[in-house]
Amino acid sequence: QTFEYAPAPESRAVVDIAPAYGLYIDGEFTDAADGKVFKTISPASEEVLSEVAQAGPEDVDRAVKAARKAFEKWSALPGSERAKYLFRIARILQERSRELAVLESLDNGKPIRESRDFDLPTAAAHFFYYAGWADKLQYAGFGPAPRPIGAAGQVIPWNFPLMMLAWKIAPALATGNTVVLKPAETTPLSALFFADICRQAGLPKGVVNILTGDGSTGAELVSHPGVDKVAFTGSTEVGKAIARAVAGTGKKLSLELGGKAANIVFDDAPVDQAVEGIVNGIFFNQGHVCCAGSRLLVQESVADEVLDSLKRRMSTLRVGDPLDKNTDIGAINSAEQLGRIRALTEAGEAEGADRWSPECELPSNGFWFRPTVFTGVTQAHRIAREEIFGPVLSVLTFRTPAEAVEKANNTPYGLSAGIWTEKGSRILWTADKLRAGVVWANTFNKFDPSSPFGGYKESGYGREGGRHGLEAYLATAAEPSNERSERE
Ligand code: NAD
Repeated sequence: QTFEYAPAPESRAVVDIAPAYGLYIDGEFTDAADGKVFKTISPASEEVLSEVAQAGPEDVDRAVKAARKAFEKWSALPGSERAKYLFRIARILQERSRELAVLESLDNGKPIRESRDFDLPTAAAHFFYYAGWADKLQYAGFGPAPRPIGAAGQVIPWNFPLMMLAWKIAPALATGNTVVLKPAETTPLSALFFADICRQAGLPKGVVNILTGDGSTGAELVSHPGVDKVAFTGSTEVGKAIARAVAGTGKKLSLELGGKAANIVFDDAPVDQAVEGIVNGIFFNQGHVCCAGSRLLVQESVADEVLDSLKRRMSTLRVGDPLDKNTDIGAINSAEQLGRIRALTEAGEAEGADRWSPECELPSNGFWFRPTVFTGVTQAHRIAREEIFGPVLSVLTFRTPAEAVEKANNTPYGLSAGIWTEKGSRILWTADKLRAGVVWANTFNKFDPSSPFGGYKESGYGREGGRHGLEAYLATAAEPSNERSERE
């Protein structure tokens, strides 16, 4: 295919990646106590980007102690003073956004258009938003003198590395907590660049500590007795292990876990608009999105029309170099994730669903997967029930709105859902019955720092974003619980 609009690829040269990075503890970059390191690679080329320290128990202990010490002064600062640091960080994120966007696309594999136009602006917006809260906590409904919890241990996944970091660190700092954050092992770099931004902003030592490492580092961190609050985003399986690890310790816990969202298209929806929403819902960020619209529920009477249009649209999606501004779908984040996607899609075929992908050439190196749609899917199929976390859409049909709601809710998850219809009354009726933390109508994957985000059921508990996101970091706020997120 040829495309008229072909801007030059974003230059790799705008980011200076050092050959090696240490852990960021108490305001200093330092090697791991036992000297262990691991490599981080570009999933689009398999080229080694850098060697990063692997934090062990001794490093976790040092970082937690640094955070506890820093807490004494940081929590005692007036909110207006803490706000200044957060505003400064937000502005530096904006100033360095080109560099950070390229870095994120290199380490994660996501298209530069997304890291530039979504990840970076959203991360900065979170710091601006929570900077605005720092001096307004008193008498805002958290009691006359809201108290921070202490040192937070935060563990994040690889799909939106910098944005997930912002969701965790901004509300924690605004409320007067200090943090030890562990980024995912396949995407450690933007968190280390963020450590440098903390230094640039003059943030007091120990307020933010970054520990790179794998699941064992995360497990050490969440079970360290000096951690007062645990915040985790990642898979439901690991979320459950963390819940077991902190049970009975008195630590506060918030969990943002997996999803299997239904994107529901009613027969009166404008087809072109719905198709754009379906494409954005499942192919944004290669489908590595906890709230991805991975199940399309389409009303039977319009199913053929919607699917024809969807396939035509999918044929125009460009898969390839994340730094190319034309790219719609970048690289799959890791060989392991590619393996998971392949295994589940093979199960889909074996169970009898019909698989379709547009013709497209894939680069020879790196990890790639064509945008894929499965039709003839039933509720019993694994591809209808399990989170694939890749560019794979499972299509089911329904006849009545009640059947759509029944199918949408027939999942152990409950993070998000989408509704496409011209009728306002149908939006309200459906949204009220969907057991999902976020419901979008005639749009999908829209995020705003002022909106709470979080799940029902196995998608976790607690909310991030908005005023609700502050509760997770205040000792004076009510404990988040599953019951709270149940509407009935
Ligand atoms: P994962 O659970 O494998 O890993 C997430 C993080 O936890 C990583 O940093 C990892 O090193 C760490 N970890 C692994 N084992 C641990 C343990 N025993 N104790 C403590 N930490 C441990 O998830 P992933 O593959 O990185 O991310 C994909 C998952 O994240 C998907 O299920 C997705 O839906 C979910 N996710 C949820 C949200 C949300 O807001 N609900 C957002 C993004 C991703």
